[in-house]
Amino acid sequence: MKAVMYHYVREFRESHPNFRFLDVDNFRKQLDYFEKNFGFVSKSEWDLVLKNRNLGSVKNKVLLTFDDAMSCHYDYVFPELEKRGLWGIFYVPTMPYEKGKLLDVHRIQLLCGAYKGSELLKLLLDLLSEEMIPDKRIEEFRRETYLTQKNYEGITEFKQILNYYVSDEHRESLINKVAEKFGYLFEVEKFYVSEENLKKMSLSGNVIGSHTVTHPVMSKLTRSEQLIQIRSSFNFLNQIGCIKEKTYCHPYGGFYSFNKDTVDLLTAEEVMYSFSVESRDIENKDLLNSLQYLPRFDCNEFPYGKAS
Ligand SMILES: [Zn+2]
Repeated sequence: MKAVMYHYVREFRESHPNFRFLDVDNFRKQLDYFEKNFGFVSKSEWDLVLKNRNLGSVKNKVLLTFDDAMSCHYDYVFPELEKRGLWGIFYVPTMPYEKGKLLDVHRIQLLCGAYKGSELLKLLLDLLSEEMIPDKRIEEFRRETYLTQKNYEGITEFKQILNYYVSDEHRESLINKVAEKFGYLFEVEKFYVSEENLKKMSLSGNVIGSHTVTHPVMSKLTRSEQLIQIRSSFNFLNQIGCIKEKTYCHPYGGFYSFNKDTVDLLTAEEVMYSFSVESRDIENKDLLNSLQYLPRFDCNEFPYGKAS
């Protein structure tokens, strides 16, 4: 069975000429392609897979997942799924709802969409000093990150420095300074699916799951910090009436992004299943051994899935 991960699915916007997203027309074409070649796992089939810990008849089918709760998931994805009688799992980081702030990872993407990578990188390097980077994990992150992403010149480095190299306490102010220099204003109100619309999606047969509170690289956090990320995010989604079953998705994904503490905590918190990012099918053995880090493809690994 193939789980497939999506992020932005939308149309071109002139204000963000370099923004990386999957065009909604290509999203439709990709759904047609999946329908024709594999078929989709229904919600009741998925329930059965989890109950029996066995793929049974859905071995070749596709499960759709959407990360980060961007408003395009309500505006474009939800109606398209409704039209086709499909459902999806939507993973939501909860800090933007509780604090009314954009996640840093999204502020970085917006800047990359609005300006040239080379200019962003130059500005960032001017602002950056050595003591803002803890040196112990730089090599690992460099190897593991953005392996399958294609970026414009300078964008990769700009993202990598801010998302991974820079220590947490410096990231926010560095992004503020870069945005200030360009005169860019972040608009949080329209960026995410509203609480009300999350509920609507949930009531229409979709599953809403936790994607932590602040979308951190969990493996960089202590066990107790990780527990807060997991527990608080589920609490919030519960409060707004969006939790049907406890499912979780690792921010960034991949084996560097979480650790044994994360997996133990997810199990202890009785999370039913979790998704990571790994380019392979879900097999029966994963339902027994890797339930808290099920493999998931990026949509860009299939026809029509490339970001433009
Ligand atoms: Zn994410």
